[in-house]
Amino acid sequence: MPIRLLTSEVASQIAAGEVIERPASVVKELLENSLDAGARTVTITIEEAGRKLIEVADDGFGIPSDELELAVSRHATSKLVRSEDLFSIATLGFRGEALASIGSVSHLTITSRVAEEKEGARLKVEGGVSGKPTKVGTTVGTTVRVEDLFYNVPPRLKFLKSDVTERRAIDMLVTRYALAYPEKRFKLSEGKNVTLQTPGDGDRRAILAALYGVDVAKQMLEVMAEEEDYRLSGFVSPLSLTRSNRREITFFINGRWVHDVSLNSALLQAYHTMLMVGRYPLTALFIEMNPEEVDVNVHPAKAEVRFREQDRIFSFVQRSVRKALLAYSPVPNVAPSLWGTTRTASTPPEPRSSVGLEWAIAHDEEVRDLRPEPRSESPAFNHHSPDSQSTTPQAQPSHIARIPLLRLIGQIGATYLVAEGPDGLYLIDQHAAHERVLFEKLMAQRETHKIASQTLLTPVVVTLPPQSANLLVTQLPSLQGLGFDVEEFGPNTFQVRAIPVLFAGFAGNDPSAALRALVEDFEEDEAPLENEIEKKLAARVCKRMAVKAGQTLSNEEQRTLLTDLEACDSPRTCPHGRPTMIHLSVDMLERQFGRRGAR
Ligand code: ADP
Ligand code: MG
Repeated sequence: MPIRLLTSEVASQIAAGEVIERPASVVKELLENSLDAGARTVTITIEEAGRKLIEVADDGFGIPSDELELAVSRHATSKLVRSEDLFSIATLGFRGEALASIGSVSHLTITSRVAEEKEGARLKVEGGVSGKPTKVGTTVGTTVRVEDLFYNVPPRLKFLKSDVTERRAIDMLVTRYALAYPEKRFKLSEGKNVTLQTPGDGDRRAILAALYGVDVAKQMLEVMAEEEDYRLSGFVSPLSLTRSNRREITFFINGRWVHDVSLNSALLQAYHTMLMVGRYPLTALFIEMNPEEVDVNVHPAKAEVRFREQDRIFSFVQRSVRKALLAYSPVPNVAPSLWGTTRTASTPPEPRSSVGLEWAIAHDEEVRDLRPEPRSESPAFNHHSPDSQSTTPQAQPSHIARIPLLRLIGQIGATYLVAEGPDGLYLIDQHAAHERVLFEKLMAQRETHKIASQTLLTPVVVTLPPQSANLLVTQLPSLQGLGFDVEEFGPNTFQVRAIPVLFAGFAGNDPSAALRALVEDFEEDEAPLENEIEKKLAARVCKRMAVKAGQTLSNEEQRTLLTDLEACDSPRTCPHGRPTMIHLSVDMLERQFGRRGAR
């Protein structure tokens, strides 16, 4: 084929590929335009998670009617004139690409009016082809309607996630911008459902409450720090409040939401040794700095930036957050690592670490022996159906997976059970073990449709932030199928009236905390496959209802747990595949103590 210049429609579609990935990207660009236009109020309306409609209306300064056509053309911007300006950008936009890109992959209508004109103008763009502006009566400001996003790029449509996920991305985005601009009024709604509405009174904590619920908002610690030309403000979570992913870590730089690896690690370093492994803080941090110190033109969607003095900003963030944390919370005792990673003169490193290694190896082998087990949970599901047993190559005689009868010795650290078997010592993680027990019982009962519920003496009422509530609603039928009696009890409020009998046995269970935690788990997950949902949900529920590490168990409870575990089909791993126990065989103990063989 000969070389040809691309038509402007095709060029725009290519550009759109970088910037407009999903409905939330459209919302982001339009929101940024409204903020750049000095809007006080931004109203966002979506339909069908943004697939059908995204409308962003603002009361900003508008676009003169004779510039409307330019606004939707590519490389047309009012925010930048010379290339030098690129290095001191004070607006969110500057690429002059968003409207053209969006217009090339949707039906776009833009209506705008400036204060100097009596009438406004309206322009339609269909798949990149712009019509002619018409005069319309309207108030000062701009409204952009984006309909049928990606109607002309079917492959893009296929890449979209479920409505729940796309909607959540929009929610996350708008709530974060609302946090960054507390003096502006934001309203986000889908149909009659208002997800977020902020009063624009500058109160960030109130917006945090809308985002995470009142409880969480109350606990968040305020950060304020200033150093030469850097300013940091916002909120970080206390040590007691964590999430299992980094998704709630938010940084804004000069009013722009950015994802920056170095900022994230600066933050995590501030928490260093104070959080458990795999737990992450929630933050909403806002950094102000001289625009010349930060290059915003390094990412098509402007989501990443480059700092002139990366180390300096890193250390500023790390120190400031650390200071805030220490001011609010006592320093916890950091226990020396069992495996001798902290080497001091009094603990000769060699023998220590080699013991650690041996133990670790022994426990690895344990898991490897049972590889078919942890890999799939199928034995727990289909052990009642004989044909699947015989066709599954990994179906081994059950005595291999099962554990021998154990003699309980006791509980240590309120976390592990110690037991003796014919072949050595077993250290059992009480939480993981209980998870396994609950899971197998629950699945067995479900199979026979006999999940017994127990009514709570006093029903528990739980209020969740709107986004979480929406998510929970979608899971209610599955929860009910698992023996929970949970129903909506007012806006964003749920009442738990009964829980499966299984979960009622152990002391210290708190259905409302479990429900909150469950929703947190939903949020982490992309929509699982339909047939996986219930299994996954069951595993999660068990995780949340199982006894925790640090919970002292009565003798009776310890014994029950052990007996129940012995009865499990896959006792050596929890439903998520982590080991429930470490086995120290007689053989290994003998070697370790130099009674036999090695050394
Ligand atoms: P950029 O924001 O990078 O300049 P856009 O394609 O997003 O590029 O917008 C093009 C131009 O249209 C902007 O520079 C601005 O002048 C105008 N514009 C877009 N949205 C609005 C709005 N909501 N209010 C006022 N002007 C707007
Ligand atoms: Mg823009």
